[in-house]
Amino acid sequence: MDAGVVRKALAGACAVREAGDADAVGGVVPSFVASPGSTSETSAVLRAAAEHELAVVARGSGGRLGWGTPPARCDLVVDMLRMDQVTEHAAGDLVAKVQAGTSMGRLAEVLATAGQQVALDAPAGATVGGVIATGLAGPRRLRYGTPRDLLIGITVVRADGTVAHSGGKVVKNVAGYDLGKLFAGSFGTLGLVTEATFRLHPLPPARAFVTAEFGPAATTEAMASAVASAAGSPLVPSAVEVSLGRTPQAGVLLEGSADGVAERAGLMAELLGSAGAAGTTVSDAEPEWWGAPLAGAGGGTLVRIAFWVAALDRVLGAIRSAAQRAGIRPAVGGPAGAGALYADLEPGTGPAAAAGFVAALRETLADARGSVVVLTAPAEVRAALHGAGGMHGPVPSLNLMRAIKDQFDPGHRMAPGRFPEGVS
Ligand SMILES: Cc1cc2nc3c(=O)[nH]c(=O)nc-3n(C[C@H](O)[C@H](O)[C@H](O)COP(=O)(O)OP(=O)(O)OC[C@H]3O[C@@H](n4cnc5c(N)ncnc54)[C@H](O)[C@@H]3O)c2cc1C
Repeated sequence: MDAGVVRKALAGACAVREAGDADAVGGVVPSFVASPGSTSETSAVLRAAAEHELAVVARGSGGRLGWGTPPARCDLVVDMLRMDQVTEHAAGDLVAKVQAGTSMGRLAEVLATAGQQVALDAPAGATVGGVIATGLAGPRRLRYGTPRDLLIGITVVRADGTVAHSGGKVVKNVAGYDLGKLFAGSFGTLGLVTEATFRLHPLPPARAFVTAEFGPAATTEAMASAVASAAGSPLVPSAVEVSLGRTPQAGVLLEGSADGVAERAGLMAELLGSAGAAGTTVSDAEPEWWGAPLAGAGGGTLVRIAFWVAALDRVLGAIRSAAQRAGIRPAVGGPAGAGALYADLEPGTGPAAAAGFVAALRETLADARGSVVVLTAPAEVRAALHGAGGMHGPVPSLNLMRAIKDQFDPGHRMAPGRFPEGVS
């Protein structure tokens, strides 16, 4: 690659600079950083990258850029932060259109002026594009779903620079590819998200957190039954989150009018008490462990366990016995009422122990219609995972994913090698 020629081609599309060590993605230092200010500039920069066969990684605020397998190659980072406008807020239709580099905090501020929100629990600093590309949602996914459920339209730029749209202001699907569903959780491997249209919800006037403590000797069955009763109750919880520390706890979020929330909180406390909780408290402040493993500082190994809620008792038992077998004490928590838990293994955890924990979980839960995916891990743990199904474990739709990757990015230049093994 002639760096001067490539730089000139990129600079013809948008602002570009030489990259430095601080721009590394998973340890791979790119040559250039481009900062497009619009979808058309993003298209032009990806066309230039295609002509020079550059490997491209998208970057939002960079908070979780190291997640997934590090890219095998990275020549160009496309920084989305100049695209930071909320371009439309149709409050009457409960719909907003926003550029991908906008922070969730900025979006929340704009929507709050009309008493509305995008009901995801992403941190204020994360960008809209990063939230979509990681596909993550926090505790309130029980009621509102994940980014793919709240997206009603999306604009993306494919590897060759082609701009594609799907959906729009109307809350229904369109024919053809539902690009929002494809790009949610794609970690930048299919192309760049440049704009998104979200379905909005009203900000609730009041909320309450009902927290239930279980004794150290509580059985997984008691905890699972409390979570299932809370999640399935007619009290309409927005979230049912658990934390499996020394004192296992379950927390339920109720949202609505002040009177309604107060009444439902009392009934929920009774429900959790009769389901075996040792004690309950009601507060309008979230427990300090709320959403914890996802908000961790990182550096260790983070494992996501997704499952059918009916299998929660079995999943809790499997996590406990896998941790015992591996001799580790991971911090475990998450939206159990919505069928997801996260296990955070602290940074010093030995690679054999971390890989053993993941392998044991996959083995025990093989027939539980769920998945055990390692979202991020240090290099030595990733190496140890090779014999245990890698970062992703078995991927039932591998052939389909491969076909979609080949169609959107035939040269395999978008975050190449990112995920899963055998696709990119
Ligand atoms: C309850 C909860 C708590 C959380 N707490 C934290 C926290 O404390 N700190 C934190 O950093 N994260 C936290 N997260 C995760 C956070 O939501 C993700 O880190 C965030 O979505 C990433 O946004 P980002 O702008 O930092 O993306 P980046 O880290 O820049 O990118 C993440 C991934 O998305 C890809 N990507 C980014 N933008 C685009 C785009 N426009 N098009 C295509 N691909 C793109 C990147 O290539 C990369 O693979 C939390 C999530 C939840 C649900």
